[in-house]
Formats: sequence, C-alpha cells, structure tokens
Amino acid sequence: MIFLENRPKGTYDLFNEEIKEFTKLEEHLKKVLNKYGFTEIRTPIFEHSSVFHRDSELSDMVTKETYNFQDKGNRLLTLRPEGTAGVIRAYVENKMYLKPLTKLYYIGPFFRYERPQKGRFRQFYQMGMEAIGEQSALLDAEIVSVSYEVIKSLGLKNVTINLNTLGKSSSQPQYKEILTNYFTPHIEELCGDCKRRITENPLRILDCKVDQQKEFVIEAPTPIDYLDQDDLAFYNEVKNNLRMMNVPFVENKRLVRGLDYYGQTVFEIVADIKGFGSQNVLGGGGHYENLVKELGGPDKSGIGVAFGLERLLEALRLEGIKLSEDDYLDAYIITFGEAEQTKALEVLTTLRNEDFKVSIDYYKRSFKAQLREALSLNAKYLIIIGDQELESNILTVKETKTEVQKEMTIDEFIRKAKENDYT
Ligand code: AMP
Repeated sequence: MIFLENRPKGTYDLFNEEIKEFTKLEEHLKKVLNKYGFTEIRTPIFEHSSVFHRDSELSDMVTKETYNFQDKGNRLLTLRPEGTAGVIRAYVENKMYLKPLTKLYYIGPFFRYERPQKGRFRQFYQMGMEAIGEQSALLDAEIVSVSYEVIKSLGLKNVTINLNTLGKSSSQPQYKEILTNYFTPHIEELCGDCKRRITENPLRILDCKVDQQKEFVIEAPTPIDYLDQDDLAFYNEVKNNLRMMNVPFVENKRLVRGLDYYGQTVFEIVADIKGFGSQNVLGGGGHYENLVKELGGPDKSGIGVAFGLERLLEALRLEGIKLSEDDYLDAYIITFGEAEQTKALEVLTTLRNEDFKVSIDYYKRSFKAQLREALSLNAKYLIIIGDQELESNILTVKETKTEVQKEMTIDEFIRKAKENDYT
C-alpha cells in the first residue's frame, strides 16, 4: 500500500516564483564572492559525525540539534548543521594549507532539529565563505566587508552589522571562569539551559533569548574587559581596517556566537526591518583559531561567515526588492484545426531554433481558451494560424501590448521580433 505523506516538519517545497528569486539570489551572491576572490567548494551533505561532534564543541546546535544516523556499514554519520567544519575537513584532507591563503564559499542545504517557526526551518539554505591561512586583521576586516557588500549590493537598507571580540581562545578559559563565578550566585534565576551553561559555556548566557534582559546578565563582565594587549591591538586593527573600507558597524560587547570554535572577531548581520519577526539575524560569523588543528591540520586560523538564504529572501520581500524578471513568452501560437496544427509545429520548431521562447495549445481548445492561456503566460506576440495562413504561408501576428495585428512571413516575424521593430 502507498502512504501519501506531507513534507517533514520544518521543511518546504520550492517552486514557481519562489525558486526564481532563490536562484537569482544564488547567482547574485556568487557574483559578489567571485569579485572578492572566493571560489566555490561543494562538500558532502553528510560527514562522519566526529567532524561536528568534537570534544570542544558543546553548543546546543551540535549536541542537541543534529540529525545523526548509522549507515549499513555501521558508520556514524551526521547531516551537516553548519558549513565551516565540513569545509575545514576538506581543507585539511585536500592539503589546501600548502597555499598561504585559501578563500572558499559554499551554498547549500543544512539541517538542524530545531523548533520550526517563522524564519527557522529544519532544512534551510546557507551561503557561507571561509578565508583560511594566517591570522590577519585585514582578512578579518575583509570578511566583514564582503558581508556588508552582500547586503549593500542587494539593496537592503535597514540592516546593522554588530561586531565584538572574544579574545584569543587561550585567554578564554580565564574569562569563562570569571563568568562562571559571577553567575553561580544567580543560578536559581537562570533558565534551564543557562543553568547547564554556567559550567559548560557561560558565554552563551550573555545572549540567551530568555535571560539576556535580566539585570545581572546585563551587568555581567564582557569579554572585552579581559583582553590582553595583543588581543586589544588586534581588535583595534580590525576596526580601523573596517573604517578605512567604509564598512559601518556597531560595537556590541555582549555579542557571542552559537558555536564554540570562535575566538577573536565575531559579528552578526541583523535586519531591523518591520515585520521581520524575532529570527532577524541574517548572517553571522567569526574567527576560529583551533578548528584546523582539531580536524587534523596544521596551525592555521580562519574567519568565516554564513547567511541564511530564506532570511535574505524575506528581507528582500519586505523591502520590496525583486531580483528576478517576470516570466514571459516571446510568442504563443494559436491554431484552429488538425491541418493547422502541423503547420504550427513547423513554426514552433523554426522559432525555437532561433532561440525564441514559444508555446502552443496542447489540447485542441477553443480560440478563447488559447487566448486566455497566451495572456496568462505573458506572451509578447500571438501567432494565429488558420485556413488562410495555411494556404498563403503568411502568418497573422498580433503584438499583445499594442494590439496591432499584421500579416508577415515567418522570416519577417523573426527579424522584427529580434530587432524589437514591430510597429
Ligand atoms: P549560524 O550558523 O547559526 O550562525 O547561522 C547562520 C545563519 O543561517 C543565520 O544567521 C540564519 O540566517 C541562518 N539560519 C541558521 N539556522 C537556521 C534555521 N534553522 N532556519 C533558517 N535559517 C537559519
């Protein structure tokens, strides 16, 4: 027996107008990234679980939200919840570290077992980029700058870039301890997740959706208060570079990120667009110092960012920006009988060979029905083939916009339509 099921919770089907905008957005993003010297990488949608489930990674995204499964060879695999770990796995495996700098981008689906809501899905698309090599304040600034270019080139206006630094990973344990000591007396006032985070990852309490407005959380020590001289100098250099590059940003001392591998620069791109809803982070990223080593590579660091495509599309929609053109047909061929249909097929083939976008009635319907379809398909020209046209080899053509009707040979039509010289 066949059971017809609906799509799984948190997923969606993409077709018609929506897929057109989606594809246009992908094309647009690729163009921007090429300009900045990034090349595409496609990694598998599933990886060995150990790529994501590393000892140092205790974020909810990885510990609670991944889709894990065992294949028939008893391998533990995970559907990728984010792009960076897989890209770094590929970077190490393919020895890309032999070059001083590698700049890669990816576009594709990601999977997280989250509670679905507006702007949050279980399968969603991300476009992300990674620059991997030596630590450089210029490179950090460039990634933030490309992110700004993405937003600017799309024409999005009401968007803010929030910037912060977490300090280098080696100084984080000390800061984490300070935070744990600070929050421990408040343990009973924290939400269930943050009670656990006190020891595992106290940084995440700073941006917890439930607790972040509580007075003692607002007053908690922030990473920037504990930076050493080097980290402070690095952060200042990143900010100066951004100013030189004319990238507007807002410092947000309380910004931390969802994954544990970040150190130094972190940033988020937030939409302040009316009607957007609570899931208003369009993209986010940051610097990672240890991930390459953790995945078996040399001592290289990287910086990356990922944008959610669904959220970018929603931002475009709310700001009234359309990337794709309306669908249209160059011509629709209207026919009246069997004999005319043979002639119509000949015209159809000739026009398609000339790269025209043409359609025809497939069901021998009435003139009225054919006309209705032609208009709904946005046909620029109607080509009418009746008895007269059959005998004379002359087509009756009507431009839909002007409603001007003329008689002409097919060659004449091709020339006029191509040169946009109908009237
Ligand atoms: P993250 O890796 O969590 O920083 O995510 C980067 C971006 O991907 C976010 O800013 C969102 O735009 C998007 N994103 C993350 N999770 C989801 C989700 N469950 N559904 C839709 N978009 C998401």
